[in-house]
Amino acid sequence: MDLVEPTGASRMELKGLFPRELEDFAVSIGLEPYRGRQIVAWIYRRGTTNFDEMTDLSKVVRGRLKECATVLDLRAVAEVRSEDGHTVKVLFELPDGQRVESVLMVEGRRRTLCVSSQVGCPLDCGFCATGRMGLLRDLTAGEILDQLIAVRRMLSAKGEDLTNVVMMGMGEPLLNYDNVVRAIRLMNLDYGPAIGMRRITLSTVGHVPGILRLAEEGLKVGLAISLNATTDAQRTQIMSINRKWPISALLDAAHTYRQKTGRRVTFEYVLLHGFNDTPDDARRLVKLVRNISCKINLIPWNPIHNAPFLRPPQPCIDRFVEILADAYLTATVRYSKGVEIAAGCGQLYQDVSAPQASA
Ligand code: SAH
Repeated sequence: MDLVEPTGASRMELKGLFPRELEDFAVSIGLEPYRGRQIVAWIYRRGTTNFDEMTDLSKVVRGRLKECATVLDLRAVAEVRSEDGHTVKVLFELPDGQRVESVLMVEGRRRTLCVSSQVGCPLDCGFCATGRMGLLRDLTAGEILDQLIAVRRMLSAKGEDLTNVVMMGMGEPLLNYDNVVRAIRLMNLDYGPAIGMRRITLSTVGHVPGILRLAEEGLKVGLAISLNATTDAQRTQIMSINRKWPISALLDAAHTYRQKTGRRVTFEYVLLHGFNDTPDDARRLVKLVRNISCKINLIPWNPIHNAPFLRPPQPCIDRFVEILADAYLTATVRYSKGVEIAAGCGQLYQDVSAPQASA
């Protein structure tokens, strides 16, 4: 990263920089390198965005920082809670006015944040609302990370903290690879949010080169792959990405990820009634994945407008699970949280024309 002497006109955005880069930045504006490390704790661990609150910095240092730097602070413009209060959808406004959503899910002592990686999504999976927006832009590493920092700040007011992160919000994380990986490393930072790699899961549509690259990254994050069908013909109908990377390529990549990282891969499977939820589908699924050490995550489809699908009735779901269980596969059903507030998987869709009021 080039660290040029910043002028008033072009201040350096600090959120998203690694500790080493913050040290270099401090030096570049005439401060000691350890000032960079102090800033790490303030912006990443405590979530401070105002230099005046950085009380272990002298007034002169704070003044220099104000002249030369900014700290991103995503604004929560709406917060919607599910009836049981266990799911909270937060709508964040980015500096350019675009909006993304994050979803906080509370389950016992677990606090999981579902984070967005892009504004919209370039893929067009037929069952998902986000794809209908198209891709508006990638999020920066700072914008990905700040969803987590902002929610941690909200939780800390109640004496709580985040325990898990899933990169399963708006967008395809592996199509914004560099920023997503940088954000994950920052989430994991000891002097920052310190979320363990084992508590971070990245969900991909099945972008094979991205999976193989991630396998070499040395990150050891959990990987979830949206399989969603058991034949190429069927998968292509709902996910056009399958033309590029068919099921066999995807399974090979999953196998490689497992071998390189030692982590069990999760296959996500959205259940669409009458399309991919029959006992035959379940049996084909068993055959596909039985040689890979994996978990299956079944997601009964969450309704979105004008999509030609139905959520399966409970007996279909139960039968599907039973067939997987009989084959000794680990399968769980994800009854999406917050369906009634459109915060379930695939329902995250910003209505740009009608900003929502706080609920
Ligand atoms: N682009 C990534 C992450 C976002 S989608 C991916 O494709 O994995 C996160 C998960 O939600 C995916 O498994 C996707 O298949 C699923 N999903 C999308 N729309 C859904 C819907 N309407 N109902 C249930 N699950 C859905």
